[in-house]
Parts: sequence; structure tokens; C-alpha cells
Amino acid sequence: MLREDPLYIDGAWRRGAATTRTAIIDPATGATLGQLGHADARDLDDAAAAAARGFQVWSRTSAYDRSRILRVAAEKLRQRADAIAASMTREQGKPLREAKMETLASADIVDWCAEEARRVYARGIPARRSDVRQVAQPEPVGPVAAFTPWNFPVSQPIRKVAAALAAGCSMVLKPSEETPSAAIAIIEAFHDAGLPPGVLNLVFGEPAFVSSTLIPDPRIRKVSFTGSIPVGKQLAALAGQYMKPCTMELGGHAPVLVFDNVDVEATAKAIAAGKFRNAGQVCVSPTRLFVQRPRYKEFVDAFSARASSLRLGPGSDDKSEMGPLANARRLGSIEGFTEDARKVGARIAAGGARHGNEGNFWSPTVVCDVPEGARLLTEEPFGPIVAVLPFDDEADAVARANSLPFGLAAYMFDRDAHRADRVAASLEVGMVSINQGPLALPETPFGGVKESGYGREGGAEALLPYLVTKFISHAPPA
Ligand code: NAD
Repeated sequence: MLREDPLYIDGAWRRGAATTRTAIIDPATGATLGQLGHADARDLDDAAAAAARGFQVWSRTSAYDRSRILRVAAEKLRQRADAIAASMTREQGKPLREAKMETLASADIVDWCAEEARRVYARGIPARRSDVRQVAQPEPVGPVAAFTPWNFPVSQPIRKVAAALAAGCSMVLKPSEETPSAAIAIIEAFHDAGLPPGVLNLVFGEPAFVSSTLIPDPRIRKVSFTGSIPVGKQLAALAGQYMKPCTMELGGHAPVLVFDNVDVEATAKAIAAGKFRNAGQVCVSPTRLFVQRPRYKEFVDAFSARASSLRLGPGSDDKSEMGPLANARRLGSIEGFTEDARKVGARIAAGGARHGNEGNFWSPTVVCDVPEGARLLTEEPFGPIVAVLPFDDEADAVARANSLPFGLAAYMFDRDAHRADRVAASLEVGMVSINQGPLALPETPFGGVKESGYGREGGAEALLPYLVTKFISHAPPA
């Protein structure tokens, strides 16, 4: 059941004072699950004030104690994984198995950041005078405003929350209003772990109102956003007006280069597993498959067979391999990409239509022989649809892979290790996976280049966006 008091400010739950609400919809059935309360201006002011007070407490808490509280919160997420996954599946639609994996992986992210908290090292710099001591000292940047989307309702917020808190920052988190339960569960885990009041605050509301209120607020010192490129640009521009640093994890349009020396069947299987996970609503989802011409037809057949064999159904059904799209906007969007592809003369090799007549189900769709000009080749589809195109040589494949303003993830399947290294070096992206599907692990950096954004989450880089370096030069009294 959705909380009646979904905002968490200064260590206490409250109802939002705004008159607007978000209806929470089960994407598998269209049923309304509840109404989510929104913050008004006063709630947001209270949240920023609480975060400012929370920062004073938390930034002075030892790294050892911060780390300890994070570890307890991670354990609570693990203990509650079944319940968290069930509500995530109800609100977002993904198969329960994926929701559970996401929750457990999120607990691992918290543990990783808890460990990193204890490894934020200062650096001594040799001074020009023997009686002077010079130190470059990393400090937490301050209260953070974080905005996260609906596709990974627990792991998207947790990447920001865990890293910011590990670094000693406080936060006001605004997750997606459409999938609120996972973020509420995160807050409950940290509350029960003994996090001091004000360190982590949760608000829901009208997204543009919340971001345009919090980003200019002088108490907020850092902005972190995951979502679409157009919204990311707006928020980065607003943050720029107030000289606030940003982390931007935005969309992608991931190319996959399949060279002609691979096992086509195994490669099609690996790509399909990555492509249709979370119904393709993943920023690193493979979306443009470039296959070397001699194996093109064989690949299209193998990949289409794989896509057509996926069992669609409600995420709560153990047998479902792909759930519904998370919201009606996505369904309309994928329908639009498909119609456009048909109109410009592409061939639909699998799917291409709604599945059933209840909920947001869309059949896994493979579009081949796609002519230039098809929207699918240039706009991020963010759903269970993929373009398959032939290429002739390495230079052709790399040029087409790099031809868009996106630069998040790229994939390559090749048995020629020298070429694989060369191609990986020439791809204009933040992440390259060779002979495997998408990876997002606590210990590895995640993020893009070009319009896919800037800053990294995860890895040894995880805490960097939440730290600033203070230089201290200490001379003896005159
Ligand atoms: P959207 O851009 O309207 O919303 C994406 C997320 O940003 C939502 O959670 C929303 O609440 C939030 N948001 C929107 N406007 C905001 C604002 N002014 N201030 C603060 N937050 C705001 O799009 P959508 O229809 O929800 O999703 C579709 C597109 O979003 C996709 O095509 C995809 O490109 C992108 N997306 C990307 C990711 C990612 O992981 N990078 C995740 C979800 C969606």
C-alpha cells in the first residue's frame, strides 16, 4: 500500500501540502493503485532547510560512522528485497526476477559506497618552505538536489543517495512520481539504519516545479539528474545560472557492432537478453545493431526468432520474460517509431504491434533494412524496438556508430582481439562492452560523453561528483 504521507523531511514523514496528486497506475492492467501526494513550495523550503541542517551534522560525522550506517541500510534493503521488488513490479511492470535483482544490486552499491567513504584521501603537497604544511583536502560539496526516473526505481536513486551520503553530503531526492514505492523503501531503510534527521529528504511533486524551486535555492550546492536529454539540458542550464555543479546521466542510442567472425546464434542470444531486459527501457539498451554484411541475413533471422520467442506477461507472473512498458507515453512512442519505420519502407522482421488488449504490452520489435531518415536511426527509442543494419568494413561501422550526438554505451562482438581494442578506442562513448551485453556494476564507472551527459556514477569515481578539494596551506605564526 502506498503511504498517505510519502514525503520525508527532517526525519519525519508527511503528506504533501499541494493540491495536485499523481495517480499510480499498474502498467500490466491499467488499474489505479493509489494517489501520490505532492510537495508545495513550503514543503520544498522545509526540505532544503532540513538538508542544510543535515549537512552540518553529516559532514562532521566520521567516515567510519557514515560507512557503518550505510552498511546497515544495505542490509535492510536485502532483508526487504521481496517486498520492494513486488511493489516495483506493480508500479513499473518489470518481471519480479529483474526487480529483485535490481534491489539486491542496489544493496551492493550501498556497500560499495560505504567502503569508498573510508578511502577519501587528502594529499600532502611538498611546500617551498620547510616549515609550511600543504594539504589538498577533499570535502563534501554540500546539500544535493537529485532527480531520478522510473525505469530503475531503486537503483537510480540509490546510485545518487549512496555516493552522496558516503561523501558526507545531505540530499533532497525527487524520484519519479510514477514509481514512488522503491524510493520510499530506500528512505525507510536509511531511517531504520539510524541516519540522522535532515541528511536524506524525499519529495514528490510536479517535476518542473520541484526542480525550478530546488536548483536555484542557495542551500542546494549540487545537482544530479538521470533522465532524458531535453530535460537534462534544461536543468543543467538552470544550474549553470547559479554556478552549481551537475552530474547528468542522460539518454543513449547504443550501437552494437557485430563482425562476421562471430557465432551468430550465441551473439543474437546475448544481444537479445540485453535488449529486452526491462522492456528496452534502459539508457544503455542496444538500439542500433550493425552487422557485417556476410552474416547480416543469418543474424536478422536468429535475432528475430529470439525476439519472437520471448514470453510477455505481467511481471508478477514467474513465466513472464518481458513485462509491459512502464507507462502509456512509452507505448505511444514505440507505436510511433514502428509506424514511421513502416512508412519509410523498413521491414518489420518481428513484433511491430501491441500485445493483448490490456496494459502497456508491446511485442519485441525488430526492424531491418532501415532506410536513412527513419526516426529509429536518430531518436532514442527507449523501448523494445531495435534497428538492424548491414555494414561493410570497420571504418564504415565506426563512422555510423559515432554519427549521432549520443555517447553513452556501445557494444562489439568480434573474435579479432586487435581489432576489438582498436574499435573500442575509436568509439565516442562512455562505456564499451566487448563480446557481452550491458554492464552496470557497483565497482565500475557508469556515464556518457557528448549529449549523453557528464560525470560518472559507480566505480572508484562514485564519490568524486560529491567532493570538492580545499587547499590548505599552514605556515607557522609570524
Ligand atoms: P521525461 O524526460 O519527461 O522524464 C524523465 C524523468 O525526468 C522523469 O522521472 C521525470 O519525472 C523527470 N523530469 C521530467 N521533467 C523534469 C523537470 N523539469 N525537472 C525534474 N525532473 C523532471 O520523459 P519520460 O516520458 O518520463 O521518459 C522518456 C524519455 O526519458 C526516454 O525517451 C529516455 O530518453 C529518457 N529517460 C532516460 C533515462 C535514463 O536512465 N537515462 C531514464 C528514464 C527516461
